[in-house]
Amino acid sequence: MINSKVSSKSSWLSPGNPGIISAVIIAFGKNLARLGANFDYIAESRIELNAARFLTLDAAVKMDTVGNKIAASEIAQIKVYAPNVALKVIDRAIQIHGGEGVSQLTPLASMYAHMRTLRLADGPDEVHRRAVARLELGKYIVR
Ligand SMILES: Cc1cc2nc3c(=O)[nH]c(=O)nc-3n(C[C@H](O)[C@H](O)[C@H](O)COP(=O)(O)OP(=O)(O)OC[C@H]3O[C@@H](n4cnc5c(N)ncnc54)[C@H](O)[C@@H]3O)c2cc1C
Repeated sequence: MINSKVSSKSSWLSPGNPGIISAVIIAFGKNLARLGANFDYIAESRIELNAARFLTLDAAVKMDTVGNKIAASEIAQIKVYAPNVALKVIDRAIQIHGGEGVSQLTPLASMYAHMRTLRLADGPDEVHRRAVARLELGKYIVR
């Protein structure tokens, strides 16, 4: 990014909005958020982050009220969904920042690598998806 500026009031991650980059960075004389497909990226990120939060809340409520065994599907769902959403949000932030997004001038590449391990560290996505599918099928298959 050429001639980029970051406001002294900006922070990479707003405390109330993890994953959403503060839209104060200027490129080519325009606010970065207003360039290209960036409005769509920001909106998609907000929608997916909210969906991930509600899925997490749903799993947590079920764990507290009916127990971990009955909440097994919701737990597996969020283990797949949250890291994938976080990765997509970071990926969009990298795209918005262009080459600077993969440089050491931003924490984004490091955040991406760190988040990518979560799709393995607590079991691979495929294993959690398999658990969701088995529990879903279990509702309909007569034993
Ligand atoms: C940073 C990090 C931290 C970790 N921390 C912990 C920890 O605290 N505690 C702990 O116990 N483990 C931990 N692990 C290990 C982690 O749980 C395993 O890496 C993970 O379960 C995948 O096992 P694996 O690496 O042997 O790959 P494999 O089991 O060989 O899997 C490789 C790939 O095969 C596919 N696959 C595997 N099994 C299935 C299946 N049943 N159905 C469909 N596809 C499948 C998936 O695509 C998977 O990504 C950690 C791993 C990392 C990278």
